[in-house]
Amino acid sequence: MSITKGAPFVDINKRRLINGGDADVMQLYPMRHTFAWEAYLASNANHWLPTEISMQRDIEQWKSPTALTSDERKAFETVLGFFTTADSIAANNVVLAFYRHVTSPEVRMYLLRQGYEEAIHTHAYQYIVESLGMDESRIFNMYREVESIYNKDSMVLSLNEGVFDPSFKTGTFENDQKFLENMIVFSLIMEGIFFYSSFAVMFGFQRQNKLTGSAEQIQYIMRDESMHLNVGINMINTIKKEQPELWTPEFQRHVIDLVKRAVVLEYTFAQTVFPNGIFGMNAAGFKQYIEHIADRRLERVDLPAQYNVANPFPWMSEAVDLNKEKNFFETRVTEYKTGGTLQW
Ligand code: FE
Repeated sequence: MSITKGAPFVDINKRRLINGGDADVMQLYPMRHTFAWEAYLASNANHWLPTEISMQRDIEQWKSPTALTSDERKAFETVLGFFTTADSIAANNVVLAFYRHVTSPEVRMYLLRQGYEEAIHTHAYQYIVESLGMDESRIFNMYREVESIYNKDSMVLSLNEGVFDPSFKTGTFENDQKFLENMIVFSLIMEGIFFYSSFAVMFGFQRQNKLTGSAEQIQYIMRDESMHLNVGINMINTIKKEQPELWTPEFQRHVIDLVKRAVVLEYTFAQTVFPNGIFGMNAAGFKQYIEHIADRRLERVDLPAQYNVANPFPWMSEAVDLNKEKNFFETRVTEYKTGGTLQW
């Protein structure tokens, strides 16, 4: 990468999410994709760290022979088995796929923040596994040993392969569609669908007043992830606007097919998590829940809903889908800011 001495200030009309070419990526201004800057500021205001949350009660419950049923233990472990590697996959995608090809400086700023958040999430799972004295090798290796986790991760990784290739470049119709597909697989499917039965399980524990320290961490993660999803959707819709030729009817059908494949993988995963159901939630309820959120994801990129089913877990909507950033974590966020100010 080189800079041209004496070149004029960048023309804002030349800014592109991808294929921005010589519109200098080192200059934050002129800022065109302001959604990313706003998300960057909001994410900084929501900063948190896993070790701020006490795990004492979780440790007592996990050690107690009576506090949790064997079905509950299995569900918790399987969900962690998915989580522990999911955010590493996410971080890799942000850094090795998105960041390399995005030519908008403000979107790149957000991606740097997002990459750090994925690291914090992996830290949170590590903190849970370590606090509860779980077998790391068993939990962290579940994505290679538990078929339903393996199938989800394999779908994402196999579709991303082309974009991860160091010689991959945007700038042709075929490659730009491939890149857009990567964004859809990663944002809409990985972050928008594949995390959601696991989130719901953790909220199930929280509603029963069980493993609440772990559940609180997952709440923070979910807040971050809904921001990642929103930015991802904005990125997808921006590319659609900047390069409308990519959004062919055939490509739209392909996106719907991918989402439908993901829905099947996600409720197959839910069946592994609780073959017998826990907390009044079972695989059938999850199937409907996953179909419901898949429709919401499709609608966000202007594709038609495929399932048209009611939300069987309305309490999840309150926690996840609503724009709750303002009040949901207000107390802790304020505490964090005060602590930070005092310390520095
Ligand atoms: Fe994420």
